[in-house]
Amino acid sequence: MTRSQAKFPGAASVIIISAPSGSGKSTVVRSLLNSAPGLQFSVSYTTRARRSREKNGREYFFVTLAQFKRMIAAGEFVEWANVYGNFYGTPRRPIEAAHRAGADILLDIDVQGHRKVRKRLRGAVSVFLLPPSYEELKRRLTARNSECPATVEKRLRAARDEISHWPEYDFVVVNDNVARATRALHAIVTASRARRQNQRDEIRKICRTFS
Ligand code: ADP
Ligand code: 5GP
Repeated sequence: MTRSQAKFPGAASVIIISAPSGSGKSTVVRSLLNSAPGLQFSVSYTTRARRSREKNGREYFFVTLAQFKRMIAAGEFVEWANVYGNFYGTPRRPIEAAHRAGADILLDIDVQGHRKVRKRLRGAVSVFLLPPSYEELKRRLTARNSECPATVEKRLRAARDEISHWPEYDFVVVNDNVARATRALHAIVTASRARRQNQRDEIRKICRTFS
């Protein structure tokens, strides 16, 4: 058993969502967090530049490369990866805290991160969010106007490889419509909460009333 597995026994309340950049993942995740009380968002650390509408500590903790490397050395990440030329990492402590509190936590991470977390947290549930088509992805990524054309190009090229990973996920949701995709994700969160390993204490309590 790895150190991480030992630290998160069960860990069934971790929900991972991945998607190519521009699919609408942040939009749908925001909408889900508003409609699913008790679901926390895991705020990653990143070395990428902050976008104008982002707030430090809300979308990400924005750090320098030197700070990021110190965190790696200190073992502060459950996983970290280089995505589109910048570093991103999932901090360990909020996941441990959510686990202790019995809360669900949502990780918005890429396909590399998904693979690592799935190995470490066996009970994690994962969702791949697909855009309705390549053309629509290109339109959304360009319309967002947050990256320069070269970066948009890089992200679009990466999308072809990223979508090939959909078979590794438990669920696939198509984001053709924000409300519809949010409802689908909400149903997945509800189903994940109903898994028997997430309800052991409650079930035992009921069973004791029969003895
Ligand atoms: P991601 O987090 O996947 O990179 P964003 O959430 O920033 O993507 O969305 C990219 C752009 O697409 C934004 O301008 C957003 O408003 C738009 N968008 C998101 N979901 C939809 C949708 N279902 N239909 C149309 N536009 C969408
Ligand atoms: P963006 O720069 O558009 O916010 O995110 C780029 C990509 O990095 C997205 O696919 C997002 O899911 C991914 N990402 C964000 N945080 C993490 C993280 O902590 N770990 C990994 N592996 N990927 C992340």
